[in-house]
Amino acid sequence: MITIAIANQKGGVGKTTTAINIATALAATGWSVLLVDLDPQGNASTGLGVTTADRHHSSYDLLIDQVPIAECAQPTRIPGLDLIPATVDLSGAEVELVSAEDRTGKLRAALQADNGHEICLIDCPPSLGLLTLNALTAADTLLVPLQCEFFALEGLSQLLQTVERVQERFNPDLGILGIVLTMYDRRNRLTDQVADDVRSCLADLVFESVIPRNVRLSEAPSHGLPALIYDHACAGSQAYMKLARELIARLPERRKAA
Ligand code: ADP
Ligand code: MG
Repeated sequence: MITIAIANQKGGVGKTTTAINIATALAATGWSVLLVDLDPQGNASTGLGVTTADRHHSSYDLLIDQVPIAECAQPTRIPGLDLIPATVDLSGAEVELVSAEDRTGKLRAALQADNGHEICLIDCPPSLGLLTLNALTAADTLLVPLQCEFFALEGLSQLLQTVERVQERFNPDLGILGIVLTMYDRRNRLTDQVADDVRSCLADLVFESVIPRNVRLSEAPSHGLPALIYDHACAGSQAYMKLARELIARLPERRKAA
């Protein structure tokens, strides 16, 4: 299984939207996908139509209570896409992990016992705390959604420093899959300027596909559906399909076959 952490310590930059729609695009392409909701807000779970009452076992149970992964993963309404949902008690995990043994390696250990998924996406919370460190330690590679706004590059350099620390201490093989520009607004000059800066600093790390600001992407979660299902033809869905193709092409060769 190849594991992709979707992280950025800023909130509201499109992590969850990217997680849901890339997971759906991969499932539609025939991959067996596991999405781990690692944000106590549980937006990925809600966005996939899994209500709090339907969250049988959660990522908290997986991390803290060592409930086996096969029991935590539950099917969604999307064929080929399983979910480990998040519940509010996950916010306590951040504190509980502090005193735990191998506190950054819990998720990696749990995911190693997975049987049957080809790809795993981890939707991280908006912080660089222990939950995100667990995701980065468990991941083969990192996908960073970046909103083109004034402080984007500062935030990104802080994230990349954390990646280096994780590479040194916990996960030397952690790679960077790429940076995807989200909520792109062509009419905004600042957006263009930031996009140019990001591309000139990070060159090929930045995906060619750009996710436009698109109201259908923000409406879809309230229907409990990925935008890709809610409105397949909208500009946002089309952009995520394009990103998924680009992303698959960047995956390590031996893992590409679905
Ligand atoms: P994060 O997980 O990084 O906090 P979200 O994916 O939850 O970010 O996005 C934050 C808000 O912006 C959500 O309400 C979401 O529906 C909306 N949103 C995300 N991407 C877009 C987009 N490309 N266009 C318009 N709205 C978006
Ligand atoms: Mg989120």
